[in-house]
Amino acid sequence: ESLSVAELAKKLHREPSEIIKKLFMLGVMATINQELDKDAIELICADYGVEVEEEVRVDITDLDAYFEQNEENEQSMEERPPVVTIMGHVDHGKTTLLDSIRHTKVTAGEAGGITQHIGAYQVDINGKKITFLDTPGHAAFTTMRARGASITDLAIIVVAADDGVMPQTVEAINHAKAAEVPIIVAVNKMDKPSANPDRVMQELTEHGLVPEDWGGDTIFVPISALKGEGIDTLLEMILLVSEVAELKANPNRSAIGTVIEAQLDKGRGSVATLLVQDGTLRVGDPIVVGHAYGRVRAMVNDIGRRVKEAGPATPVEITGINEVPQAGDRFVVFEDEKTARQVGESRAMTAIQASRSEKQRVTLDNLFEQMSQGDVKELNIIVKADVQGTVEAMAASLMKIDVEGVNVKIIHTGAGAITESDISLAAASNAIVIGFNVRPDTNAKRAAEAEGVDIRLHRIIYKVIEEIEAAMKGMLDPEY
Ligand code: GDP
Repeated sequence: ESLSVAELAKKLHREPSEIIKKLFMLGVMATINQELDKDAIELICADYGVEVEEEVRVDITDLDAYFEQNEENEQSMEERPPVVTIMGHVDHGKTTLLDSIRHTKVTAGEAGGITQHIGAYQVDINGKKITFLDTPGHAAFTTMRARGASITDLAIIVVAADDGVMPQTVEAINHAKAAEVPIIVAVNKMDKPSANPDRVMQELTEHGLVPEDWGGDTIFVPISALKGEGIDTLLEMILLVSEVAELKANPNRSAIGTVIEAQLDKGRGSVATLLVQDGTLRVGDPIVVGHAYGRVRAMVNDIGRRVKEAGPATPVEITGINEVPQAGDRFVVFEDEKTARQVGESRAMTAIQASRSEKQRVTLDNLFEQMSQGDVKELNIIVKADVQGTVEAMAASLMKIDVEGVNVKIIHTGAGAITESDISLAAASNAIVIGFNVRPDTNAKRAAEAEGVDIRLHRIIYKVIEEIEAAMKGMLDPEY
């Protein structure tokens, strides 16, 4: 930090001319508007017998910092409910399962309780709560992760017992693994005569999910989402896994959390569903949500009731902010509305500037530079190829690459064209995508451009290896 002579004079309650004179005596020629460096400031202050206190600048507009600072003493922490996401292949029963859990548990005891969709809901199992994100599939999961928000504690992977492991099942597993979220497998459609749970288990073993009976540590629960069978066991297992994880939060602090979904409502203005991750959110709280701000005007819970407060892991829909935030945006409650407004406005400005200079993702061209700066120690790769055999051969060759200072990590593979889902996983995990004898489809191409994801297309295996090795050693010829 530097100060001008005039600013320093003001801080010391002296005339600038006096400071200039002192500087002169110390052998420094200075004018009133001259910027002084740290040494000069210290010299002058020492002369006046004043200690220089370095201002520690906390960037109050950095919402992520509130999450990082969030380590607290154990005493103030209390157990909190787990936040669960349901993923799996299309038509394997995610929506049916979400509905089934909601109907058996939410409406019970709520006379005429209207379940309303706010993007998440909570169920109560003998006094213990579980929060479900009500957007099936991994698109939402990945979007949030790409925005730096990890809100899921546990992933349920639904696999239809009559269909087995499908491409999106594998994607879902890899998304959960990349986010280091524990997995419970729900083997669904057990009511069907063609159900073959053993096959599902066998197939999942190939993806590292081994049932406990077979010596692994993955919990498999056979269910019928349609008939409501096995749901209680599934819920018990969720509680079991969360107990082991010792999920905690401090309800006695001001709230922080993440946006689940948001939209503009004709009558109510900006409406956002927030997941409180720590602290307690109250009506009237001054709040910054992404770069929107305001005061919490009204809060509605997942069964459409007005509530005055919401504790850790509780989803609530709020009104009272000036703009529509995005899913995955952080929110933080501030002491007073004025600070919230300043932070919100400043964040809106920064967002405009940031959109002009996109943050750098890893590409083969900047890999070496990012490695040298210590930003990257692992090169995450997604491999897509025309046939499964080639996918495996490619992955095996890539894993053999041995360059000091960086590891290759294959986070996802698959046969077929490069899809938008591959790109979103790459963006969320800072990965590059290699396509072998395949190309990105139109949506994937657009997404890759928007997200700055590096796609490399090849037809000869050794060329791929050569290119990656060269990039790791900083010897890649720039691409024009
Ligand atoms: P999603 O795409 O994963 O959300 O799958 P859905 O929940 O929409 O389910 C797809 C289809 O499978 C629907 O016709 C459901 O009625 C059916 N389905 C879901 N769960 C079960 C089940 O446990 N048993 C049977 N027989 N059908 C199911």
